[in-house]
Amino acid sequence: MTPHSQDKRLERMDDLVSLCARRGFIFPSSEIYGGINGFWDYGPLGVELKNNLKARWWQRVVRERDDVEGLDSSIICHPRTWEASGHVEHFSDPMVDCRACKKRFRADQLDDAGKCSAREGSSEHDFTEPRNFNLMLKTAIGASEDAASVAYLRAETCQPIFNDFKRVREAARQKLPFGIAQIGKAFRNEINPRNFTFRSREFEQAELEFFCHPNEREKWFAHWLEERMRFHRELGLTPENLRTRPHESDELAHYAKQAEDVEYHFPFGWQEIEGIHDRGDWDLSRHSEYSGKDLGITDPDSKEHFMPMVVETSVGVDRICLAVLCDAWRVEELDGGERTVMRFHPALAPLKAAVLPLSKKLAEPARKLHAELRRSWNVFYDDSGNIGRRYRRQDAAGTPFCVTYDFDSQEDGKVTVRERDSMSQDRVSIDGVAGYLRERLESLG
Ligand code: ATP
Repeated sequence: MTPHSQDKRLERMDDLVSLCARRGFIFPSSEIYGGINGFWDYGPLGVELKNNLKARWWQRVVRERDDVEGLDSSIICHPRTWEASGHVEHFSDPMVDCRACKKRFRADQLDDAGKCSAREGSSEHDFTEPRNFNLMLKTAIGASEDAASVAYLRAETCQPIFNDFKRVREAARQKLPFGIAQIGKAFRNEINPRNFTFRSREFEQAELEFFCHPNEREKWFAHWLEERMRFHRELGLTPENLRTRPHESDELAHYAKQAEDVEYHFPFGWQEIEGIHDRGDWDLSRHSEYSGKDLGITDPDSKEHFMPMVVETSVGVDRICLAVLCDAWRVEELDGGERTVMRFHPALAPLKAAVLPLSKKLAEPARKLHAELRRSWNVFYDDSGNIGRRYRRQDAAGTPFCVTYDFDSQEDGKVTVRERDSMSQDRVSIDGVAGYLRERLESLG
């Protein structure tokens, strides 16, 4: 059987949503209670995919560089942080309520509001005037729930980076230019979570704040824009589905000098997956003012004292995960029917290989091979059901290689290795399987 050229790409999100739930990539949080809008759980395959993405980001942005340090800050910061950042005052979306059905909508998305379920005779909503709605999720710290105990779940991972700027710079003995990076959860009380995980209320960000001298901000902005696009291209995303879009001047935050979004072409249109922003000295100046601590730098040679400028790269881990899932999805016509295959880049694939003995009678030697391979990779073992069905399950999980142990294996000391995309098969000696996989996985990037 060979795949035909007219492979079907993802057009309807529903096809992906159901595959993700069935195969355990992503499904609604608290599903047994009917789910909770804007919250998602990553299952056995999803957590591996997401971890691979985060590891790749950390490798490129932190480990491969001398000029970037890592951080893992707490989710709850001192509440003054969010006053300094402007979130308490400004982090809001204008929105309207329907007096009849009590639903809440973003004022700029009323075209998508649909019909009102509570107005007989007329299905038009009865909207209030737009009001601002703060997107930060509140909590209370300590035993009493008075105003003094109010705290916020962080709305972005970058603000604690600014809080820790001085400490990290001194501890790591860094000089400008240098950056601080972190991956972690962020929370926004989005009015209208939608498009699967694309707009959620709890999500993960991978952010870099790169600090430089005011004379060098353009240079570093260009550098990071190029680096980040290289990262997305290397994930194997279809080049025509990836673009950058500079912000118009009326889109720019008041403190920002320049900003570009990295966009991916999802089945629901071109949408932002990452933002690259020149934030100027806004954040460090504000935190200096609100904390009373000078976060400026004195140049050791010229003795010039200045506030560093910040170039930020901010990507939603859930959004690249979703882009990778959309991009990988294929349904292929085969001579004997069709198969769904997730064509993940092997570095991202949740499972790198599966060991499939032809019969349960071959379990012992097959398990031995499995134990050897899983010392290096995440490798699945499956000895139940017919082999064709087992291949299909691995195709839908996006596993690049299936290793089949058959009745000849005992005699000739070889197994069959099947490649996911071409479905071509190689006979490989059992001793050489690990080396074969290493070479093939590495040659694929
Ligand atoms: P949007 O315009 O889509 O609301 P934003 O411009 O507010 O996004 P930023 O504040 O720049 O987003 O956040 C940086 C990144 O964090 C975004 O590029 C996106 O990948 C991710 N992100 C932001 N909000 C969400 C969300 N509600 N769910 C998932 N990811 C998000």
